[in-house]
Amino acid sequence: MELNVREAAQSLTAQPLPVTALKGVGPKLAERLRRLGIHTAEDVLLHLPLRYQDRSRMTPINQLQPGEEALIEAQVLSSEVVARSRRFLLCHLADGTGVLTLRFFHFSPAQQQLLGQPGVRLRCFGEVRQGYNGGLEMIHPECRRIEPDTPVEERLTPFYPATAGLQQFTLRNLAEQALEQTEALLPELLPATLLTQLRLPPIAEAVRLLHQPPAETSVAELESGHHPARQRLAFEELLAHQLSLRRLRERTRRQAAPPLAGSGLSQRFLERLPFTLTGAQQRVLAEIAEDLAQPRPMLRLLQGDVGSGKTVVAAVAALRAVETGAQAALMAPTELLAEQHYRNFRNWLDELGIEVAWLTGRLTGKARHTLLERLAAGDIQVAVGTHALFQEAVAFAELALVIVDEQHRFGVHQRLALREKGRAGGRCPHQLIMTATPIPRTLAMSAYADLDTSIIDELPPGRQPVKTVAAPDRRRAEIIDRIRRACLSGCQAYWVCPLIEESEVLQCQAATVSAEQLTALLPELRIGLVHGRLSAAAKEAVMAAFKAGEIDLLVATTVIEVGVDVPNASLMIIENPERLGLTQLHQLRGRVGRGTAESSCVLLYRPPLSEVARTRLAVLRECHDGFEIARRDLELRGPGEVLGTRQTGEQNLRIADLLRDQDWLNVVRQTADGLLREHPDCVERLIRRWIGAGTRYGEV
Ligand code: ADP
Ligand code: MG
Repeated sequence: MELNVREAAQSLTAQPLPVTALKGVGPKLAERLRRLGIHTAEDVLLHLPLRYQDRSRMTPINQLQPGEEALIEAQVLSSEVVARSRRFLLCHLADGTGVLTLRFFHFSPAQQQLLGQPGVRLRCFGEVRQGYNGGLEMIHPECRRIEPDTPVEERLTPFYPATAGLQQFTLRNLAEQALEQTEALLPELLPATLLTQLRLPPIAEAVRLLHQPPAETSVAELESGHHPARQRLAFEELLAHQLSLRRLRERTRRQAAPPLAGSGLSQRFLERLPFTLTGAQQRVLAEIAEDLAQPRPMLRLLQGDVGSGKTVVAAVAALRAVETGAQAALMAPTELLAEQHYRNFRNWLDELGIEVAWLTGRLTGKARHTLLERLAAGDIQVAVGTHALFQEAVAFAELALVIVDEQHRFGVHQRLALREKGRAGGRCPHQLIMTATPIPRTLAMSAYADLDTSIIDELPPGRQPVKTVAAPDRRRAEIIDRIRRACLSGCQAYWVCPLIEESEVLQCQAATVSAEQLTALLPELRIGLVHGRLSAAAKEAVMAAFKAGEIDLLVATTVIEVGVDVPNASLMIIENPERLGLTQLHQLRGRVGRGTAESSCVLLYRPPLSEVARTRLAVLRECHDGFEIARRDLELRGPGEVLGTRQTGEQNLRIADLLRDQDWLNVVRQTADGLLREHPDCVERLIRRWIGAGTRYGEV
């Protein structure tokens, strides 16, 4: 609390300069700039060009090459408006070395007038192309009337990401104004020794270069993001994010949490399990138990490949809370998964006399009221649900542990909301975050810097890798026959219809159509259908029937991607696998191979396949290790997809790119250590600079 007050006071004294303080920025322009995330003059400086053009060299007309962008200076010879199927304006220019034609399909009377005066001297920039009549021409070049001997640009011309109604010259002008105050707006926050050591330029120098690069700067290096000036900013941005998460961690760790010490309940539970824990599960549980016994909150990320047995680990952790007389909550990303966890937990915990409740959005009226009352009174010890669990109306008697499954579906913000939930009487719940999407180490370090990590790197014994094959669509009949044989011999199978369009409605339609076709082709099988638009009750009924073996073939959308556990299912067909990412395919495939039967996955693709799609399917055929697959996925698709943050915009990096700049991540982490120790004043300012008004997740 005190911290917040002090911070608020600080931010009052160091007000950033609003963008409206720049000349020419009225309310209308300010609104457009806001759409680009530009609120302050600092933001203007950090809004970097995407592309650059070299207008520093004049090319004589007789040296122009088709396909190149070039700057020429020449005088108007003649011009004419031609009216064929389309009306256009032609203007012929000469510079003493040759003649060039300009062609305009749209033109204003003013342009027509300017270009219609023989002898006028013009400077034109555009792409050169082979004209219709053999000569060279430019279509819609930028043209400017010029006096003789006007010097050429000494710098590359920047092009900024823009938005409707916002012109490049406006952005250039704003950048120019802000650059006059660079030192005041963006004071150097990194120690000079660090910069020397990393061979990075000071921030003011970097920013100036990026907005107004000297003509000899390499455009390729600038545009690819590898120029040291850009790297400097990327580094600082990554550092700020790292610091923000680390500070968050420090603050949470300073809070009190109920120490959870075992009283034997979890031991009894383990003795009753039909299997023994793997070594990896035991190790991870020991790590968790040690954290839970502390009087400060655990913040732990549990990673484990699909099928590695995270749920049982979660159950033991929950028992630690229960045996101390407190409550645990388990949050899953979908109703389907929440329901499955609920069933598992009931199965395991009922006989120990523990009350488990399932809280869903569809629970209403009196039933909901009663449940909430019992939860608030502490009569219910374990609550399972979707994010409905963390709505305001839900109160716990003493929530000591929050478990979040399949973390990558939730963002940092939701993670924080959870932390808030259990915070009562100055105490903060312990947190266990579980993810089945193995996160490559470097990414984990940056995206989850506020968490400790445990890894289950071992599958339960007896598992066989899922045999994976890719088959073209024309072998559909053969595959349907295979399903028939497999199901008639007692196996169960999935038929997955992934995203055809970005729309859930269409996805469900596609699944419905497939289910109808398969029902017609496989009359001897019991076929079920599950998709996201079914009511929760209907989904639940279908899944229960499948689990009970009353359905042979389950046609599904990717709703079954996460977590669903039916060990008797040993065959999976995935339609259109080329539309999915590797990690997602691996998740899907993880639904089979959970029992002891040999399992297969058929990737039924529609030829022709692109090169990338071919590579992806090959990776999946050869590779069964989720970490390795995630690493390859990262290479093929980029970090936003792997972390599942692209949709939510969670990552919010303005300049850095986790993939391109991943070599920095280690240095970023070390630097963060040093700064937190030695320059806490810089830490605040770095976070404020980069994680400003938009994302306030640096604050608790
Ligand atoms: P995930 O890590 O993907 O969430 P689950 O927790 O759903 O995996 O576990 C997958 C299956 O393996 C479940 O049926 C579970 O009961 C079983 N299982 C978990 N741990 C073990 C173990 N040590 N030995 C045998 N089976 C196990
Ligand atoms: Mg799971």
